[in-house]
Amino acid sequence: MKDLNSNICEAIQGEIRFDEPMSAHTSLKIGGPVDILVFPEDPVSLKNTLVAAEKENIPLFVFGAGTNLLASDSRIEGIAVSLKAFRSIEYTKETDEEKVVLCVGAGTPLVTLINFACEGGYSGIEGLVGIPGYVGGAVFMNAGSFATEIKDVITSIAVMNAQGEIFVLGRDELNFSYRNLELPEGMLILSANIVLKKDVPSDVSARTREFMNIKKATQPLGVHSAGCVFKNPEADAAGKLIDAAGCKGMRVGGIEVSQMHANYFINKNGGTCAEFLQLMEIVKKKIMQRSGIELETEIKIIGGAN
Ligand SMILES: Cc1cc2nc3c(=O)[nH]c(=O)nc-3n(C[C@H](O)[C@H](O)[C@H](O)COP(=O)(O)OP(=O)(O)OC[C@H]3O[C@@H](n4cnc5c(N)ncnc54)[C@H](O)[C@@H]3O)c2cc1C
Repeated sequence: MKDLNSNICEAIQGEIRFDEPMSAHTSLKIGGPVDILVFPEDPVSLKNTLVAAEKENIPLFVFGAGTNLLASDSRIEGIAVSLKAFRSIEYTKETDEEKVVLCVGAGTPLVTLINFACEGGYSGIEGLVGIPGYVGGAVFMNAGSFATEIKDVITSIAVMNAQGEIFVLGRDELNFSYRNLELPEGMLILSANIVLKKDVPSDVSARTREFMNIKKATQPLGVHSAGCVFKNPEADAAGKLIDAAGCKGMRVGGIEVSQMHANYFINKNGGTCAEFLQLMEIVKKKIMQRSGIELETEIKIIGGAN
């Protein structure tokens, strides 16, 4: 790891932190220290990070804004990479009188893209308002709400593999499903091309505001959560099932099932990953006993045993 430290420091433009607590980089405010956290400034520095990790056989994971992550309380071995410097929105040549096609960097906050669309009068992602995180994370998770998923507006993505090679994958090569994009192991999203319909700016803004108002009234925003913990099963909403099983307000240590939306678990006060996992197990068991449904986890869990 020592060699790797000095190799990485020499070959990378961008901030590098050692023993950095992941709790500082997740919306849940949970997570132990990761050996190395790298914020590459450009694709060459990203490539150098990936190649160094591959050469030394060091585990590496990428994350965005950490709004869908549950990170282990214990030390997380290896390298974490954040693409927050990959922040850009550019018009592509495919833009015409009817539509805009934007090339959006993976580290662009989704809210920045939504504000850009409102100001320009570009329609198609109004329903995604209120989803925190970056565009790379939204594409990997196929983030969605109000019957819109980010896959609906993607025309292609640029990715980098573990050897640092860059590819463009067209829409027909992308296998999206509910809260998932299938990507080969170790592949990172660099940017996404997004097509939006030209519309009247005040109309786009009004629709976006309407969706946001519904979200504010129904979801616990502004508290420490990772969004929905479980995927919605085919027949029902996970939140409804959890509520019907009487789990609202249930608590393990500092983690509580939200009173407002039962599929959100809130870190009320110094909660841990271990407590979060324990609460998940209790809720899952209750739903299985009551409805015979096995809830599937939506949030991504990183790091080893707690
Ligand atoms: C209050 C709140 C409300 C939310 N509401 C919604 C909602 O309505 N709908 C919804 O779908 N989600 C929702 N979420 C969940 C979350 O915000 C989304 O999944 C978001 O898109 C994750 O983006 P991120 O940048 O935070 O990704 P992270 O949490 O950092 O990462 C999520 C996953 O994406 C992978 N990843 C991240 N960036 C890349 C990249 N560049 N290349 C490859 N893989 C990458 C990570 O490895 C990880 O597996 C909510 C979360 C919160 C806290």
